[in-house]
Parts: sequence; structure tokens; C-alpha cells
Amino acid sequence: MSTPNAVPDNLMEAIVSLAKRRGFVFPSSEIYGGLNGFFDYGPLGVELKKNIRDAWWRDMVQRRDDVVGIETSIIMHPKVWQASGHVEGFTDPLVDCKVSKQRYRADQLFFAPVVVDGNTVGYVSALESEKTVEELQAAAELFKRKKGIQGQLAPVQPRDMTESKPEEVALIPSPATGEPGSLTPPRAFNMMFETYVGALSDASSVSYLRPETAQGMFVDFKNVVDTGRVKLPFGIAQIGKSFRNEITPRNFIFRSREFEQMEMEYFIHEDADWSKCHVEWIEWCRQWLLSIGLPESHLSLYAHPQEKLAFYSKGTVDIMFRYPFGVQELWGIAARGNYDLGQHAKASGKPQEIFDEASKKKFVPHVIEPAVGVDRIFLAVLCAAYAEENVTDDKGAVEKRTVLRLSPRIAPVKVAVLPLLKNKEALVGRARELYKKLQRRYAAFYDDGGAIGRRYRRQDEIGTPWCVTIDFETIEKDGTFTLRERDSMQQRRIGEAELFAMLEEQIF
Ligand code: ATP
Repeated sequence: MSTPNAVPDNLMEAIVSLAKRRGFVFPSSEIYGGLNGFFDYGPLGVELKKNIRDAWWRDMVQRRDDVVGIETSIIMHPKVWQASGHVEGFTDPLVDCKVSKQRYRADQLFFAPVVVDGNTVGYVSALESEKTVEELQAAAELFKRKKGIQGQLAPVQPRDMTESKPEEVALIPSPATGEPGSLTPPRAFNMMFETYVGALSDASSVSYLRPETAQGMFVDFKNVVDTGRVKLPFGIAQIGKSFRNEITPRNFIFRSREFEQMEMEYFIHEDADWSKCHVEWIEWCRQWLLSIGLPESHLSLYAHPQEKLAFYSKGTVDIMFRYPFGVQELWGIAARGNYDLGQHAKASGKPQEIFDEASKKKFVPHVIEPAVGVDRIFLAVLCAAYAEENVTDDKGAVEKRTVLRLSPRIAPVKVAVLPLLKNKEALVGRARELYKKLQRRYAAFYDDGGAIGRRYRRQDEIGTPWCVTIDFETIEKDGTFTLRERDSMQQRRIGEAELFAMLEEQIF
């Protein structure tokens, strides 16, 4: 018996701890103190991540007739990034604290004037969180009390530092020191990592680690069209690493400096109904997230307001996920017109047009771009799957069970094989035989250490959907074994053929 899905208050802490304890995610270079914004994926993490990638590739590329895949280099010609606008404009607003040397993203650093009886008597600041307004209000009250100011304190009106007036900057306290006077006005900080190509390290050899995979699809557009037997509408997809020198990497793997993207550029006729196509892709992406087990209740859509879009953009909708630290962007689906191909045509002097047989027209196609981060899906999956419950065993004892309710599609281990006893050769022999057979098709795990209940718990904690136990009935009677299901913890007898049929159906 178990209590219903219980999510602990400190879900992020629980996930970071489980990720470390069970080998999903480690801080990078940990023995040297770690490197902020970089992570390593351990033995189970690498399987889960691979399963997410593989599911996306199968559904996005292999199971569609209108999408092809490519893999482009991480370092590309620097002119790519000039043409795309990244050299000029791939920036975040940065604020420095001159005393503490801390750096903040200006749009994540909030402040408010402290207004008493209609007069501004000072300023307070707080970093963006779920409780920014409450924190600023509490800080304003403290400020008033400390300064011994009498009168009516107005409710705070928070703004972020990008909205600060020049004369306000010197009056806003640094979150690091609590004192005003050390913050700089916001300035644009380019997030691309620079490197040098070749033996000379000078301005002529500067290049960049790509900040997105998308440009690979644009610069290879002609190569794919000329060789790939594609016709409009069609997509080019790619999975690969991207790098952004984020000012404030945070929330574990949600915002890191090295991450992996899965992007697709879907090229459409210049006269096509882009809005319909955009809506179809938003729904496709949403359905795909449901297919890997994310609950509908955690997903929502956010349409970027028209006035905040880039001039060439027709519309961007983000699929948002309710993470423990707030509702945040998971997957962006942008209608980008023909801006990117147009820019590369201009900069390279090579036309990027396509001749469309159906309309007998030559033009630069328009594009819909669904772009998602593997690491953000990975984190969303863990957040949605993690539960702690109290379970009561046959003898009435209550114990805590931690369980990852991962979809069988992406679970790192699909099935664990457990001989009831490890010192009975017949049990072990049959268990290893089944394990070897399973291993040819599925990620299976063999465990003969400890009491059977403990072994189930170990598998629950890493999200293994099924355990099969080889017992005396297996070897002495009809060959069936116990199939124990992770979520319900129910057990039933099952034969080998039925087991393989079930796995075949559930893991797609
Ligand atoms: P954000 O506003 O959160 O910085 P973005 O709008 O800049 O994200 P895009 O440039 O649209 O992100 O990138 C596409 C996807 O790549 C995002 O939806 C996200 O899933 C992922 N992504 C972007 N930046 C990061 C990062 N620093 N760490 C992990 N994933 C990222």
C-alpha cells in the first residue's frame, strides 16, 4: 500500500541530491571545486539523456517523410555569426558590483524606491525569484525602520535594472553588499565564447563556439536542397552542443554555459499560411512532450508580445514548464520569416533561393523553428517524475520510498532482472540467461545483492519501470516469473514471450 504521489517542499534539493547520489548529474571538474555553469552526466544520466535525444530524433526525423537530419561543426566561419546578427546583438544586459565583483543580469536584478508619505527616501533591491515583490516589500519596511523614518510606507513598485534611470543607479543597493554606490549602469554583454582558429591568436583568427545549432541548418540549406531530394515544405533538424557565456547560470542544469539543443528549421513556401504551420508545430511539440511522460498540468503556452519580437519575427510561442523554481521556457517555437537565409545570401553573395515546382516560382523560403534544450527536458522529466511516498509492507511497517515515475520510453533502465537468492545456482543461471536475452534489445540491469524489497527500492529510485524476479516457481513449475510494476508496485506472473511483447509495445 502507498500514499499518493507526494512531492517534497524542497523538490529541487531532493533532485540535485538524487542526481548526484545515483549518478545522473555531477558538477563538472568537481575535484577542483566545480566550474559554474558546467555539468557532467553520469552513467544513468547519460542513458536518460540519450533516450530523450533518440526519442526526439526518431519522431522528428526518422518517422517523418518531410524532415532530414544533419550534423554541423561547432566552430563555424566567423562570418556566419556576423550575418546572423549574433556578433552585434547576442547580448544580455549586465550590471557589475564594483565592490564585490559580482555580476548580475540586469533583467534579473529588481529594485524599488522606498516611498514614505509620497516621498522617495531610498532604494531597495532583490534578485529575481518567486518572491521578489514580497522580498522588496520586507526590505523597504526594514529600511524605513532602520532609518527611523515615520509615516505611511507605500507598496513597492518593482522594476528591473534595465528600466533604471541613470540618476537612480548610484542609489540602488548592491544585493552583494546591501549598500548603494557600487552598481554600474547596465551594458550589453555578448554571450558568445570566443576562441582562435589556427596557430595565430590575433583578431584575424577569432571565431566562436556556436551559441545555437540553428545557423548550421541555414548555411547548409543549399547543400541539403541540392543533395537531399527534398521539396517544400520540409525541415532540417540537428542535435548538438551549444555554448553561451550566461551571466548567471542557475537552477542546476536549467541554465548552463554548455548545453545541448535539438532544433529544426521547417522551410515553407513564401505564400504559405505560416500561422497555421506555426500552430501545428506548437501542438506537435506539446504532444511530443506528453509522449515522453511530462504531465499536461505542468505545461502552458506563452506568446511573446508583438512589441518585444525582433523586427523580422512574425511570432514566437514558448512551451512553458512548471519547474519547482517557477514557470519557465522549455521549448521556443518561432516563425522567423526568411530573415536568416536572406542574411546569409546577402553576406555570402550566394543566393539562397529555391525553385518550387508546384508554383513554378523561385524565392527564399520562410521558416518555422522549434528549438529546445535537452538539458531542460532532462530536468523537467526529473521534476515531474520525482515522488516520495510512505509505503506499508505486509508486516505493517511503514517506510519511505523514493520513486522516479519515468516514462518507459526514456527510463535509463527498462527492466531489472533479480534472482530471488544469489546462492542458488538454478535461480542465478535462469536469471542471467533472461538478462542476457533482454540486454540484446533493451537497457537491462542484473541485481542479486540484498533483500528483494531493497532491490525493488533501488530500481524505483532510478525509475526502472519493471523488475522481474526469478523464483522457485520459475525453475520448478511453469517457467513464469514475477513481474513487479514500479508505479503500482503490483506483482503478477508473466512468461517470457509475454514479457517481450509488453516491452515491445511500451517502449517505442
Ligand atoms: P532563455 O530566455 O531561457 O535564455 P532563450 O529564449 O535565449 O532562452 P533560445 O535561444 O530560444 O533560448 O534557445 C532555444 C532553447 O535552448 C531554449 O528554449 C532552451 O530549452 C535551450 N536553452 C537556451 N539557453 C540555455 C541554457 N543556457 N542552458 C540550457 N538550455 C538552454
